[in-house]
Amino acid sequence: MSDEVRQDAIERAWQDLVATACRTATEGLVVGTSGNVSVRVGDLVLVTPSGVPYDRLTTEDAVAVDLDGNQVLGDLAPTSELPLHLEVYRNTYAGAVVHTHAVHATAVSTLVPELPLVHYMAAALGGPVRVAPYALYGTAELAENMLRALRRRTACLLQNHGTVAYGDSLDQAYDRTAQLEWMCRLWLTAASVPGYAPTLLSRSQLSEVEDKLQGYGQPR
Ligand SMILES: [Zn+2]
Repeated sequence: MSDEVRQDAIERAWQDLVATACRTATEGLVVGTSGNVSVRVGDLVLVTPSGVPYDRLTTEDAVAVDLDGNQVLGDLAPTSELPLHLEVYRNTYAGAVVHTHAVHATAVSTLVPELPLVHYMAAALGGPVRVAPYALYGTAELAENMLRALRRRTACLLQNHGTVAYGDSLDQAYDRTAQLEWMCRLWLTAASVPGYAPTLLSRSQLSEVEDKLQGYGQPR
């Protein structure tokens, strides 16, 4: 990649990142500057800076780090959750990562170790969504707990904290986050009716959905 082409790719990715970060705020998945978004461009990771409202971010505010976390672009400090983002890129095919404090998802993270199988869309996230045990924000311990919860999944909950989802693009990572928040809201709604407990899907019913989503006979 020539320097000019690379610069263009970084600028475009930054614009998409800011748009996605703004969307997490306008669609109610975060309040203020909580949560953060990142996107991979080659061997760089563009990431939202710490503590700046997303709608104030300009082209000049672009922040990038390498996969070891060394800052290679921008003057603003990267998000304090950088270890969490980098751990996803080092261990998965992720092209983008979205982390939020979405209210229903965070509520569920305080109640159960795994989101009950209340809807078949769990299959689109790789299976039942796990809750990573609590650890202090911004720490390697939290990143490790998250990675275990993400095994064979594209999203997880962080206990008493929020959500993490990744995908091959910002749109996909965002959509998975929104899907997860919706599913958590669904379970909370169904579980809150006095005298009733939601019916749940079995693992085999979910496998059936996974097969259908992937297409029968396709190589895995
Ligand atoms: Zn957070």
